[in-house]
Amino acid sequence: MYTYNNNYYTATMQPVTERPALSGDVQADVCIIGAGLAGLSTAWELVSRGKSVVLLDAGRVAWGASGRNGGFVLQGWSEGVSAIEQRCGKPTAAALFKLSLEGVDIVRDTIADQQLPGCAITSGKMSVVRYEDGDNLQRLRDKMAADFDFHLEYLDRQAVRAKLKTERYFQGLRDTHGFHFHPLNYCLGLAGLIERGGGRIHEHSPMVRVDSRDGRHRVFTDQASVDCGNVVYCCGGYGGPEFGKLRRAFLPIATYAVLTEHLGARLADAVATTDAVGDNRRASDYYRIVDGDRLLWGGRITTHNLQDEKRLGQLLTDDILDVYPQLRGIKIDKAWSGLMGYARHKMPHIGPLGKGLWTCTSFGGHGMNTAPIGGRVIAEAICGETDRYRLFDAYGLQWNGGPLGPAAAQTVYAGLKMMDKFQETRSQRRAMHKN
Ligand SMILES: Cc1cc2nc3c(=O)[nH]c(=O)nc-3n(C[C@H](O)[C@H](O)[C@H](O)COP(=O)(O)OP(=O)(O)OC[C@H]3O[C@@H](n4cnc5c(N)ncnc54)[C@H](O)[C@@H]3O)c2cc1C
Repeated sequence: MYTYNNNYYTATMQPVTERPALSGDVQADVCIIGAGLAGLSTAWELVSRGKSVVLLDAGRVAWGASGRNGGFVLQGWSEGVSAIEQRCGKPTAAALFKLSLEGVDIVRDTIADQQLPGCAITSGKMSVVRYEDGDNLQRLRDKMAADFDFHLEYLDRQAVRAKLKTERYFQGLRDTHGFHFHPLNYCLGLAGLIERGGGRIHEHSPMVRVDSRDGRHRVFTDQASVDCGNVVYCCGGYGGPEFGKLRRAFLPIATYAVLTEHLGARLADAVATTDAVGDNRRASDYYRIVDGDRLLWGGRITTHNLQDEKRLGQLLTDDILDVYPQLRGIKIDKAWSGLMGYARHKMPHIGPLGKGLWTCTSFGGHGMNTAPIGGRVIAEAICGETDRYRLFDAYGLQWNGGPLGPAAAQTVYAGLKMMDKFQETRSQRRAMHKN
């Protein structure tokens, strides 16, 4: 399981060579566990600051969520702005929002400054609603401008439907700061930068245990070990019991994506934008056009990881046709799943776990900007530059519900889906009465 699967990104990835497993007993300033975007970003920030780094992964570089996601790089966190404000107060919420924007800029700037190949950046994201909600959207636009100096464009129903030819959508907000890209090639580019900067990356090297004594740590794999002053846990949704209390603080949640065949002009007739698109459902449908005329569509979440490609293809085709019935008959070329790590509070675990022991993980479904800024915040802390990690003080290691956690999450999700359905049906009925 811990390797690249058959998905859009692996079919279009930059050439890679397999990195050797860790051998012998080595030393480093920092050992990072997990080479997804969180681990790679942390490693790159540390190497850039002159630290010696060993990065271990149980499988391949970015084979997990980081190399197989929707590729949306957008402001914000998995948790919404209002909930963050309620929990942390306005000033901290504003500082956290700023961090999330810095995360977007890190990715864009690194690609440009380091000329990372194959990242295929395209700007723009339309967030659309599936029921009449124009007043609320305009209020949100005004709040984002007033509180965060972040400017979104309001799209009325006509403007939305001029681009997205479906009756499912009503109004929307357009974000021109965010973008979409090829996440796997970005991660592979980062891995190359880390190694050229002197960092060491070992694949097929699962951490099995960490022993800590007198402020030093020894990280063990089955065959070898790393002696270091700092350890950073970046396991995403794939970490097991070897992560101790951290593992009890997140739930692995599965989510899904498909890639259609080439659709030619049919696609442009339905989706007349190069923007990424997402709707306002709790587990939203999100999609974008890749390779000119193919739809990369994602959605659904489950606590059980469905792996049957045919079944996944069918489920997500149903979702596509529910929005764009004019695409009936399309074929799915690839279907895949991935795991995200979610804390109950839906914010990441960024901060210290003990002396010289750090965590930078649980980014949920919003990791492409938050993992890069998480890596920077942890690198700053290790190097004694800032204590920006304190912004996450309100979001500690909350118990994930143990064996009942997945069942509870699935029940909550089913309830939320029912609420979505209710709001959408009500809106459609109202629209019918008006016409
Ligand atoms: C289908 C899908 C679509 C998504 N779409 C988006 C999107 O469009 N935009 C967005 O912002 N976010 C999206 N996300 C979420 C985003 O991909 C994640 O939040 C992000 O990739 C998490 O990065 P990570 O480094 O924490 O985890 P991962 O990339 O999963 O990496 C974790 C790594 O830890 C390693 N590991 C685990 N245990 C050990 C161990 N014991 N020893 C060594 N290594 C270990 C694993 O092998 C793995 O490589 C999506 C996720 C999925 C699955």
